[in-house]
Amino acid sequence: MAVLKSIRNKILYDRRGYRRLSLLTDLRGMKSSLGEMRGLFFPAQPRLAMGSAMGSAMDPERFDEEFFTQLLTEKVRTHPKSTMEGPLSGERIFEDPLVGFLRGDDPIFERFKEIIGPHHFTPAEILAWQAKRNRVPAPPASETGVVSFILPLTENTRSDNARQTEWLSERWAQTRLLGELFSQTMVREIVTLLMGNGVLAVAPDVTPMFNKKRYPRVGWASPWSHRHMAWAAGLGTFGMQDFLITEKGCAMRCGSFVVARPLSPNRKRSQDIHADCLHHQGKKCLRCAARCPVNAVTEKGHDKEACYRRVASSTLYVNRGYHIFIYGCGLCSTGVPCENRRPGKARGGARS
Ligand code: SF4
Ligand code: SF4
Repeated sequence: MAVLKSIRNKILYDRRGYRRLSLLTDLRGMKSSLGEMRGLFFPAQPRLAMGSAMGSAMDPERFDEEFFTQLLTEKVRTHPKSTMEGPLSGERIFEDPLVGFLRGDDPIFERFKEIIGPHHFTPAEILAWQAKRNRVPAPPASETGVVSFILPLTENTRSDNARQTEWLSERWAQTRLLGELFSQTMVREIVTLLMGNGVLAVAPDVTPMFNKKRYPRVGWASPWSHRHMAWAAGLGTFGMQDFLITEKGCAMRCGSFVVARPLSPNRKRSQDIHADCLHHQGKKCLRCAARCPVNAVTEKGHDKEACYRRVASSTLYVNRGYHIFIYGCGLCSTGVPCENRRPGKARGGARS
């Protein structure tokens, strides 16, 4: 077996550990890219365990805020998929996560339907989809909650990308692909654990419901926004480039999932959605605009279409240089004052 594996690895990878012909052979990258855009290729949802099938099930009361914070932190630190590959093999992708919570009946979810669009799910709606699949009644919104988390990028990744002026760095590209795959695996494992213990749960971005579309009012958007969840959970506010500025900065990835458990917020939400951005505080900055190679950030805001075109066009560059199939950029979130902290003093906007 070991011999076969060694022969297979010699065929698939070169001496540096890079995948050969990655434009054709990095199937997980292709699946990830297409899946994200079209809601395709996601693995089957776990089934809800009921009654006798649950055996020695865990007490649902255990699934509280502390449980989720500890579990996410442990997985980010120790999960075998939370590391880079090739010449960067073994390096951690993320620093310890920040974790926040939302009540499922928070009125902000109805506001999201106005701000983002009517296509954006409430936690109760997406959980009702999971309930229907399992032929159980959908829980009321008051019995649901959202776990939102921030995965800060490492200093190595941030400083590599900060040195780039045209295209993303290798560490950034690996984080974009492997970090997202890890994040999805981590959430799927947690959802499976919950469902196996009789608690309905769903990761909206790992279901067929998650397909990005162009909407007339907001441009490219998905029916579940991790960044808006993170803002609502008090984890950060938006910068000029639309990245979320958290206490660990805006060089991060974020995720969220929904559970049939009432959860209590542990942070205060800023009513001012730009409270932590220097430009919005009336201070001189716009470093993010200066970093963008296609002028997709200006003092008028973020041009999502121009950004999308640039990001999509990086696929060949990443393939040739880094031997994985993914696109990305992130230049406007590195080499800027909000890269790894909340710069300046947040504006007075109330945090509620
Ligand atoms: S670089 Fe400056 S202007 Fe741009 S988001 Fe960060 S703080 Fe705001
Ligand atoms: S991600 Fe890249 S293309 Fe998009 S706004 Fe930022 S720097 Fe510009």
